[in-house]
Amino acid sequence: MNEYVNVERYQQTLSKVIQCKTVSHLDETETDWGEFEKLHKVFEEAYPLIHSKLKKEIIGKAGLVFTWEGTNPDLKPIALIGHQDVVPVPEETYGDWTHDPFSGDIADGYLWGRGAVDMKDHVVAVMESVETLLEEGYVPERTVMILFGYNEELVNNEDAAAILIANTMKERGIRFESVLDEGGGVPKLRIPGVIQKDLAVVGIAEKGYADFRLTVEATGGHSSTPPAHTAVGILARAITRIENNMYKAEMTPQLNMVLDKLFDSLDFPTSILGKGLSIARPLLRPILGAIPAAASFMRTSMSVNMVSGSPQANVLPQVATATMNTRIMPGQTIEEVKHYLEKVIKDKRVKVECIGGSDPAPMSATDTPSFKAIDEISTELFEKSVTVPFQVMGATDARHYRIVTDQLYRYSPFNIPANIFLLFHQTDERMTLESMEKAVAFFKMYIKKLT
Ligand SMILES: [Zn+2]
Repeated sequence: MNEYVNVERYQQTLSKVIQCKTVSHLDETETDWGEFEKLHKVFEEAYPLIHSKLKKEIIGKAGLVFTWEGTNPDLKPIALIGHQDVVPVPEETYGDWTHDPFSGDIADGYLWGRGAVDMKDHVVAVMESVETLLEEGYVPERTVMILFGYNEELVNNEDAAAILIANTMKERGIRFESVLDEGGGVPKLRIPGVIQKDLAVVGIAEKGYADFRLTVEATGGHSSTPPAHTAVGILARAITRIENNMYKAEMTPQLNMVLDKLFDSLDFPTSILGKGLSIARPLLRPILGAIPAAASFMRTSMSVNMVSGSPQANVLPQVATATMNTRIMPGQTIEEVKHYLEKVIKDKRVKVECIGGSDPAPMSATDTPSFKAIDEISTELFEKSVTVPFQVMGATDARHYRIVTDQLYRYSPFNIPANIFLLFHQTDERMTLESMEKAVAFFKMYIKKLT
């Protein structure tokens, strides 16, 4: 690797950023905005060139936006996005942490604290890379924009900073070449004799999300003279029909692509097994489809989670409702899921309505300069990695940016063991010190390649 990285400054800055308790709350009056200001101060002190050479804006309550003007205004800018907020640490789990969750302690090969994986590590790496490029006198031809929101963790929130920021960009007539957000990563897959590869997992698609309410109305009356089916009974049958008619799990082109890459990277003699599995692919569909975690990559999921009926045991329900959550596969829409529900329920007395959600973002292409840059740089930095386009399960801020770009990629270039990767929102969230130099180098190389 030929990129200079100021690892010491990166670690010190990340440590200070983790010490800012930028926890987001649905009730914004509970959010401590002073902590976000503190975070901005940390950036001001650590990154003087960014603050003197780039245009800085605060959008909304604490959205941080920097514009690094390129020399060629005809080129569409690239966007590096992220969120400054973190999820809370439940009071009762405080004592379980090896280091205080807001200490930013550096110990035993790790930097500890809430946000070390999701996603202060990524946000600080973006800032660090730009400051270093400025120190090196780099001049981009294409404009680079950094856009950090402040409430990504609240998921289904109308007041999402990302919506506000993306709309602001749209109003200005800005269209991005591409948007790079968190979502994927470079987990280490090392099983001796089986696989010696790392996967550079790049999110190119994201499931949609929708809540539906099922409602049955009835005349009510006294429960000493009940009808054959009460509103609750009719609703119960509808729920059973839904559960018995889940969407069929499909081998999507994406899943096939992932399996191809995985099979190719297996060591001999496991590779023979891989080849065999590859040929027996039609058999994989029902096997994977039976595993909930795998099936969720292969179909729209549906889960009935709330029900209500009569308020009293001896009163017939006049109305019964059930509320369910669905996660929608790319290529489908909320409207299609609604029709599917009506079809399987097969009962006009059950009203189906969507009470909130968003369609899946369209899948981003993999033959674009931005995806190719991610692939090439990852292959160079993470010697043993295979780049795999994938579908992100959780909702990220990236989806809100589809109004200003066709190319949304979700990738955090941290090469870490899978158990560290999975520590987001968990106790003892921490990042390996070893992964940091390459992560910063990734963003330097990404900016240089595309601008
Ligand atoms: Zn996140």
